[in-house]
Amino acid sequence: MAERLWDPELDARPWQEILEWQRASMPVFLSALKERSSFYAEHLAEAPVAEAARDDAWHQIPFTSKEDVRRSQRERGPDQLLGAMQSVPSDAIVQVIGSSGTTGSPTFFGLTAADLERWTDSLANWLTTAGVGPGNVVALTTGMPMVAGGMPYGDAIRRTGATLAWVGGQTTERMCRLLELLRVDTLMGTASFVSFFSDRCEEVLGYPATDLPIRRIVAGGEPGMSQPQARSRVVNAWGAERLSEVMGLGDVLSGLWSQCGSGDGMHFTASRDVHVELVDPSTSAPVEWADGATGEAVYTTFTREATPVVRYRSRDHMRVVGTSCDCGRTSPRVSCIGRTDDMLIYKAMNVFPSDIRDVVMARFVDRVAGPMRVRKDSVDQVRFDDPIPLEIELPPDDADPDGFRKEVEEAVRTSLRVRVAVELLEPDSIPLGVHKNALTYVGEPQ
Ligand SMILES: [Zn+2]
Repeated sequence: MAERLWDPELDARPWQEILEWQRASMPVFLSALKERSSFYAEHLAEAPVAEAARDDAWHQIPFTSKEDVRRSQRERGPDQLLGAMQSVPSDAIVQVIGSSGTTGSPTFFGLTAADLERWTDSLANWLTTAGVGPGNVVALTTGMPMVAGGMPYGDAIRRTGATLAWVGGQTTERMCRLLELLRVDTLMGTASFVSFFSDRCEEVLGYPATDLPIRRIVAGGEPGMSQPQARSRVVNAWGAERLSEVMGLGDVLSGLWSQCGSGDGMHFTASRDVHVELVDPSTSAPVEWADGATGEAVYTTFTREATPVVRYRSRDHMRVVGTSCDCGRTSPRVSCIGRTDDMLIYKAMNVFPSDIRDVVMARFVDRVAGPMRVRKDSVDQVRFDDPIPLEIELPPDDADPDGFRKEVEEAVRTSLRVRVAVELLEPDSIPLGVHKNALTYVGEPQ
């Protein structure tokens, strides 16, 4: 069913045309950037900037990494509040945004007044795609205004025409009472927050969370909301009619991908400001936007004034789940398979913990008793020469644990061409909770 589009001119334009329109602006954007930023003057010194509208030349533009961002922030001159990547005078920056810093030290990004306007408009598109609009009362549960999911989300909720109820940053008890008092119908939070907060509401309010008027959930920030079992748990706990998974990246734009009301996966919603590509994480070769394709998302913020990024390696590994959609949007739909950093290698095969989880859940959802996890020798272990140890909780009364173990090992081997060694555990052996660091975990709690 066709839906309300925030930016119909672009949202419904053929995807290839959008990519070409974006590429056409790159030579001007990049040559100006070389003048404006000491980092990019050096980084792009040898790059074929003048030809960057052409595919072959574009693919020779060097990537930017998180480490480049960190280094450029350490090397800052007197008029560089945000380091060598900064591309405007410091007094043009109206807001500083800090990454949440889940891995390594936090990094900072800036917005000029024009950047702020573009962020708010683009994030309003992202929220509209998730079904937020006039008439909704939206509870924003982020605690900190400074992070990318703080003030920018608040600004964008208002821009859609919805009512912002910023309940985050208070005790959970008070947050529960505010949901009731303000008749909140839309809850926005991280995947783990929306997963556990319904129990807290029942505890505080004395009645099930399904009796609150919440009918729409917007969940992101962590993988896990594309998994059917995890989704239905959240939907049932709140009595929601719709759950939209969303995703962003503070370094780029805090909302980039958003799930519409029609299809699986998340649409790209930032085409007016951000160019997105897929690349093979090992070879860096470009990957076409085709159904079933997988690759690492690489972003270029071609309208950003204060701190643009060029071919920024996100480390987020995506699978394209659709290239057309009934909602009327033309951007591809993806699901996030995991962080490139989470990828495991068994002999020569690449595999994500989430792939293993999906195989097990698809076949054995009624038998497993809790979360699963991959056990590593060290946090840094990526390579496995022996079968990958996979811990699974099984109820003590399971009739055939040995048969179960063999069936799981066989299912993973035939589906993914990697071997796992299943180790069965008692229920409650693996700590519950969906967590930002999904490194060793391959399962979701039931
Ligand atoms: Zn759609």
